[in-house]
Amino acid sequence: MIENVVGVFSLPLGVAANFVVNGRDVLVPMAVEEPSVVAGASFMARLARNTGGFRATASAPEMIGQLLILDVPDAEQARTALLAAKARILQMATAVDPVLARLGGGARDIEVRVLAESPIGLLLVLHLIYDTRDAMGANAVNTALETIAPLVAEISGGRVHLRILSNLADRRLATASATFRAADLAFGEFSGAQVRDGVIAAWAFAVADPYRAATHNKGIMNGVDAVVLATGNDWRAIEAGAHAYAARSGRYTSLSTWACNADGDLTGTLEMPLAVGIVGGATRAHPTARAALQVLGVSSAAELAQIIVSVGLAQNLAALRALATEGIQRGHMGLHARQVAIAAGARADQVEAVANQLVRERAVRTDRALEILQAN
Ligand code: NAD
Repeated sequence: MIENVVGVFSLPLGVAANFVVNGRDVLVPMAVEEPSVVAGASFMARLARNTGGFRATASAPEMIGQLLILDVPDAEQARTALLAAKARILQMATAVDPVLARLGGGARDIEVRVLAESPIGLLLVLHLIYDTRDAMGANAVNTALETIAPLVAEISGGRVHLRILSNLADRRLATASATFRAADLAFGEFSGAQVRDGVIAAWAFAVADPYRAATHNKGIMNGVDAVVLATGNDWRAIEAGAHAYAARSGRYTSLSTWACNADGDLTGTLEMPLAVGIVGGATRAHPTARAALQVLGVSSAAELAQIIVSVGLAQNLAALRALATEGIQRGHMGLHARQVAIAAGARADQVEAVANQLVRERAVRTDRALEILQAN
């Protein structure tokens, strides 16, 4: 799959339980090295079940490809000429991928943008909107861009420089929402209403502050990336799209929204770009990814995106609930202790006992793990 291979780097593959997405029970494979992610998602999915689970949607699988056109004599004239030639450009772009065309995909539209304020002056940019069906679509879009580039150069009177997909896939959005009963959120000495209001206050912090929003969204991506990775999809593409989308207003903010409904329950919504495929890339080439897609039982890229965005929402609440109550460390460190024991050199048969002792002593640290190992 890649160059200069010397081995295979494995990650734990877990399965999140309890998820109901659009009325369907689904087991969700997650590939991730961080303890407590799979447990957190599964727990929140269990609470969401009490109100029917996650409702999720996905928009059309439309990707955006970009052509950068330089040395244009007259940008406005070029813009008008390109828009006038739209039908010809779309036809040429669609013809590039007969498989996609047969499946109902292909080029949908063009947009021409004039960027007035670049460091080298005015830039002309053509966006090619391309429906890539059940593929992530980078290759189809990039090929289409390279194919139409000479025609676009000719029409615009300039020269085409970059020809590449945009990872800000803001026409390929997935949305999940769910309701969590306040009573179900009660935890230790915290009442359900306290947890609900604590979660909303934590979310408000992320809305107002990029320093918090970055971590808030990282919590969402803990869940999203794990499923993206398990299904052989490009998690860098998903990460780039998510964070660019979070900054679309000009200020980086929360991808999710939390509120209290008329019944006093907690409602959450997450909307983000999710350019994932169930064909193409590594999705069918990697045997584990293929198996993960089978476990998910999805029949379209849209359905996969709906599940992933639901996991993101669940993961977000798991983190917010912990932060709004006992803090993130208590539950996390218990699960993290095994990793610390292994890092300190514990053999497989010692890991459990060392981890338990670290948790009992509330000293989940490598130096203490080393002492325990040396004493044995
Ligand atoms: P791909 O080219 O491997 O497969 C997609 C192709 O499969 C389609 O073009 C189509 O011809 C065919 N196909 C068969 N059945 C289909 C169906 N039901 N729906 C859609 N297409 C179907 O993969 P891709 O999705 O074009 O590209 C994904 C890969 O591109 C990833 O590995 C990604 O890492 C890489 N990539 C990403 C970027 C970026 O994100 N900026 C840039 C370049 C490459």
